[in-house]
Amino acid sequence: MPRAYNFSAGPAALPETVLRQAAEEMLDWHGSGMSVMEMSHRGKEFISIHAEAESLLRELLAVPANYKVLFMQGGAIGENAIVPMNMLRGKASADYIDTGEWSKKSIKEAGKYCKVNVAASAKDAGYSCVPPRDSWKLDPDAAYVHICSNETIGGVEYHFTPDVGNVPLVADMSSNILSRPVDVAKYGLIYGGAQKNIGPAGLTIVIVRDDLIGQALPITPSAFDYKQQADNDSMLNTPPTYAIYIAGLVFNWIKAQGGLKAMEAHNRAKAALLYDYLDSTAFYSSPVAKADRSLMNVPFKLKDESLDAAFLKGAEERHMLQLKGHRSVGGMRASIYNAMPIEGVKALVAYMKEFEAKHG
Ligand SMILES: *Cc1c(COP(=O)(O)O)cnc(C)c1O
Repeated sequence: MPRAYNFSAGPAALPETVLRQAAEEMLDWHGSGMSVMEMSHRGKEFISIHAEAESLLRELLAVPANYKVLFMQGGAIGENAIVPMNMLRGKASADYIDTGEWSKKSIKEAGKYCKVNVAASAKDAGYSCVPPRDSWKLDPDAAYVHICSNETIGGVEYHFTPDVGNVPLVADMSSNILSRPVDVAKYGLIYGGAQKNIGPAGLTIVIVRDDLIGQALPITPSAFDYKQQADNDSMLNTPPTYAIYIAGLVFNWIKAQGGLKAMEAHNRAKAALLYDYLDSTAFYSSPVAKADRSLMNVPFKLKDESLDAAFLKGAEERHMLQLKGHRSVGGMRASIYNAMPIEGVKALVAYMKEFEAKHG
């Protein structure tokens, strides 16, 4: 079977060249006589893989020197607890912006550790938009302001960095990290699971300003204490070595594509193909406000839901996989992360047109 166009929301498609390189290096990494999976995390080979991955990530995102880059575990759901444990810094409450399913999960989990102030919510708008910044009721004494920069399920993305004054801005960037340039200095902390736009599941990226760490709650597990991990180069315990290696290959691939500006242009072109078509027909629809549509996850509905199964079956026959929408919202969802080539989106739009011509 040829490589399919995989529209999975995560774990998601990886660049084919990365997979080929990993296959070539599987049994013998650079003459070491070992697979990366078999290396000691404290050996010179893996230390070099780890250091290169960190340095490439710093370069791609232009991470300022006063930020720590941590390679952790526990996923973004783990971070929903790890963030308040580390970031309350003696304060009693944190502000959260509610833009959909992933924000709701963050809010619920943070509630175990602090008072959560939902400073704005898109609930009444059916989670179809980002609440306008001037409607946010922020608390100047909050420990931080938490946003989800891209709602993977709802397909709502921030196309601006909110100004929240002196309170640190914390972002769950699981599903749009590295899709475009970001001014890291505007954030106190950025986190994300790797399995959407970076690499294999099991690795969590944390980028945190160094003055914000070192005041974790006493109950914080050592492995989840940012300061302890930073002081140990993310090797307080065994890190997810193979996932870090693959992430490094992906960072190299992004660099070779021209970095994050090139990624953004590529991602905008792909998303425009899909949204322009969705807007041109009544057969399909996008539920998200135009200004806040995600470049990464494109949910859409068929006007006649009874055709959903036939649509998915035809897509699979054409090697287009995982287009079924999240169970909580139904319909379809095309996730078109960095690794999705524009040919995949063209093939999808061509199929959507063909399906409409037959059933419309
Ligand atoms: C996938 C995802 C999560 C969940 O991540 P895990 O790695 O499964 O813990 C959280 N937030 C966002 C925005 C996501 O896309």
